[in-house]
Amino acid sequence: MPTALYPGTFDPPTNGHFDIIERAAGLFDRVIVTVALNSSKKFLFSIEERLAMLEEVIGSFGEDLSSRVEIARFNGLLVDFAREQNASVIVRGLRTLGDFEYEMQMALMNRRLASQINTVFIAADERYIHLNSTIVRDLARHGAPLDELVPASVAQRLVARFSESG
Ligand code: ADP
Repeated sequence: MPTALYPGTFDPPTNGHFDIIERAAGLFDRVIVTVALNSSKKFLFSIEERLAMLEEVIGSFGEDLSSRVEIARFNGLLVDFAREQNASVIVRGLRTLGDFEYEMQMALMNRRLASQINTVFIAADERYIHLNSTIVRDLARHGAPLDELVPASVAQRLVARFSESG
């Protein structure tokens, strides 16, 4: 079975992301959650914090799943990192039509750059269709409850981050 990359910014990782990771680990022997360093976005959490949040939660998945999942940082072109890791699949989650347009552009561009790498879309769970990291950050900023949106360890870091900044 091929190795798959699951790339994203994960600022912070949400239950929607973890659901995709769990399902990808059921489909592929090796899933590398690939955390982007080189985005023009301004992040709430540093790369180290985002890696640590992913590690904490994936570590709690149970041996069978967590043994298939690795976490890596990457900087540069995703297809170069895929080649380096011998990965032939890129996994992405699909929520809405808005995602579809953007994801299709990315998939076609990656295919142009590396035709042997296929993008595989996993349909979002209906509980998480409207969930994204921006919404989670906004809710946390205003002290709204985060249950069912992010794992408790991620919620704790969000609360701490916004209490630091007042
Ligand atoms: P990016 O900035 O690369 O889109 P994200 O961390 O926002 O990174 O998302 C990474 C991937 O996870 C994308 O494929 C995105 O569509 C998917 N994703 C994000 N939130 C959810 C969710 N709630 N359910 C399913 N997939 C999701």
